Amino acid sequence: MIPIANPEITDDDKQAVLEVLESGMLASGPEVEKFEEEFAEFTGADYAVATTSGTTALDTAVQACGFKAGDRVITTPFTFIASCNALLFNSVEPVFADIDPATFNLDPVRVREILENDPDIRGILPVHLFGQPADMSEIMDLAEEYELIVIEDAAQAHGAAHCGQRTGSFGQAGIFSFYPTKNMTTGEGGMLVTSDSQTASRARKIINHGRTGHYQHDVLGYNFRSTDLAAALGRQQLRRLEDYNESRRENARYLTEKLQELDWLEVPEERPENYHVYHQYTVRLRPLNLESYDPAQDYKKLGNCFARVKKCRDQLVEYLRGKGVGCGIYYPLPAHRQPVYRRRGYDSYKCPWAEAASAQVLSLPVHPALSQADLEKIVKVVSCFSENITAVYLQ
Ligand SMILES: *Cc1c(COP(=O)(O)O)cnc(C)c1O
Repeated sequence: MIPIANPEITDDDKQAVLEVLESGMLASGPEVEKFEEEFAEFTGADYAVATTSGTTALDTAVQACGFKAGDRVITTPFTFIASCNALLFNSVEPVFADIDPATFNLDPVRVREILENDPDIRGILPVHLFGQPADMSEIMDLAEEYELIVIEDAAQAHGAAHCGQRTGSFGQAGIFSFYPTKNMTTGEGGMLVTSDSQTASRARKIINHGRTGHYQHDVLGYNFRSTDLAAALGRQQLRRLEDYNESRRENARYLTEKLQELDWLEVPEERPENYHVYHQYTVRLRPLNLESYDPAQDYKKLGNCFARVKKCRDQLVEYLRGKGVGCGIYYPLPAHRQPVYRRRGYDSYKCPWAEAASAQVLSLPVHPALSQADLEKIVKVVSCFSENITAVYLQ
């Protein structure tokens, strides 16, 4: 089976971790400090604070940026659930705006519509989904116009850039995840970056029991501290990150070149102003028998059509796995349709493009460990499914 993710751990990684184990300094120490400095420099932000996960970095960012209970923050429903959970945990209200179907990211046009009608919005939380930056030029313009706080969820976009600027460095804070499936890993781990010194010092307190001095506790804080073990691994991985990203981009180019010939598939589109780091290579099944489709115009009528697309997509997943090609569906349900959000009344949101994407998407392996033979096999197996496609759609 070609796995959907396959993190690389080198001898240098092992040596770096071993040295920490032998040093006796297992918790947060000099390695964490160096990892923070190096990561901040990499993103172009002034400060970085290492945490236990992307989720805890996001929770810390929401608090450190100054959001208060009852604040309303625009975000995308087409993401991993941790993005909007960080708001809910802090009693901040997620306001879901639909995505741009071409990039799967927050659509600035929808964001503006909400801002024009809701004077209580205090922030925007864009996610750089699958490694492609959200439209940060537009989002930062809106933030300035409406005086909003921006937090970037860059958990899938280490080293990605928009107009030459790296993700994480646009907003008041940006967060990253080092979970093993991400573009670089520390096992579990996360990082908050910011160029605002106040946000940085608040974040540093929040992850360390609200501590300011020797058993002096200024604010309510957690233990979200990283460890020297994780940081030693992270420093090694960071050195190889740009090579990893280039390799992901090469693999994506190959897949796109071959798969774009299939009339039932839409390959990912990289915006010219973006440097996409392909955390996932995500294709969409195109509904057949429709010259063009626009679920935003007439979602009800198209409901049946997308139910068929979903059925076909799910059969493709089975087919690929049966032939030894790992794949994933990110994400099968938009956040506002998840039971946990439905129970809180978010079901009334209308985000037809996010819902269509949930029925259409399929992610294929694109990670740096793929061989040329793996890539050829992925293309061959996907192409072979073409024979089934008409039959499946017409069922
Ligand atoms: C992985 C991920 C997170 C959470 O990161 P963890 O390190 O797993 O806690 C948050 N947001 C997005 C978009 C992610 O992909």
